Amino acid sequence: MNGNFIETDLLLDEGRISAIGKKLKSDEKPINASGLLVVPGLIDPHVHLREPGAEYKEDFKSGSMAAVAGGFTTVIDMPNNRIPTTTAERLREKRELAAKKAVCDVRFHFGTTDSNFDEVRKAGPDSLKIYMGRTTGELMLKEKGSLEKHFANFGRERPIVIHASDDNPDEGKNLEATYANEEYARGVAQKLDRKVHLAHVSASHEVHLFKKFAKATCEVAPHYLFLSSKDAERLGPLGTVYPPLRSEQKRLTLWNALERIDCVATDHAPHTIEDKEDGARGFPGLETCLSLMLDAHHKGLLGIDWVIPRMTENPARIFNLDKQGLGKIAAGNAANLTLIDMHAEWTVRGGDLLTKCGWSPFEGKTLKGRAKSVIYKGELIFEDGQFF
Ligand SMILES: [Zn+2]
Repeated sequence: MNGNFIETDLLLDEGRISAIGKKLKSDEKPINASGLLVVPGLIDPHVHLREPGAEYKEDFKSGSMAAVAGGFTTVIDMPNNRIPTTTAERLREKRELAAKKAVCDVRFHFGTTDSNFDEVRKAGPDSLKIYMGRTTGELMLKEKGSLEKHFANFGRERPIVIHASDDNPDEGKNLEATYANEEYARGVAQKLDRKVHLAHVSASHEVHLFKKFAKATCEVAPHYLFLSSKDAERLGPLGTVYPPLRSEQKRLTLWNALERIDCVATDHAPHTIEDKEDGARGFPGLETCLSLMLDAHHKGLLGIDWVIPRMTENPARIFNLDKQGLGKIAAGNAANLTLIDMHAEWTVRGGDLLTKCGWSPFEGKTLKGRAKSVIYKGELIFEDGQFF
């Protein structure tokens, strides 16, 4: 299918890949992957698993099961909980909850406020999230200078994730404000020489604007590639998301910027249907993301060599997970593997999904290509919809 894929055996030992080659011998029962595409366990750098504070929408168990069913073995959770992750204590609490309940690797972005500089240093998180547009409570930076102070306060090696989107209901106005935020954040990163990552781009101009700096990276969520304001109209209250779905023309133009986009991230943001009817913005995405990408591949829209690195080695490199043996199939790396059946067809039905919210903006769509099995830390934990 592509020069980067080869036919081989993998030997897994103590949660690691211990050897790669033909006809490897082991005493253990082999996992048959013939006819399947074996890729590193997928990594989603942008999810909202809602715990603590909104467990009725999602929790670490349901959210991580949805992740695994979608082929992911690592997700990075956002800090905008009802009680935001802005202190070392809250990060510790979240880590403990996830360690007890999650069925895969869950990591955390740390939130920023106008005053939590000492907490950032105390917590020593792997990444920061800065909200320049409106979000939950204190997380939006209001004082001029706070953003630059956070950049200066944080290490050079770890990335700072930017939410630049503005929420003015007028598309022209919210894009103008978003571009201005992005130029400002990119300028600060450039001046202080920091790694900066832009969340959920929804328009091609954002990509070109932000990536003028070599250490700037960005992600796109599937819904900006496959849905537009036409779908938002059709979906009614279920169609609201932040940033909003763009015009059909903007959606098509975004496809021209694909080569410069580093990651695919779901921005999995589950809300119950009742909360959607009350205006909550966000889509679940963990269980549909890979299949949407593979289906687009089958339609000739995306190369598999575009898709897979953007869901594995690129997020691993940006978020320093490569140094922990994630994102690549290599001897010594973590035995986290996703086995893809390129030809499995399925129809998205909200009621069949594992996310607690139980609906999808892609309801009724038939997709070709799916994660058949998932190996996490050397163990087969998921196959054909069953967890072990
Ligand atoms: Zn988000």
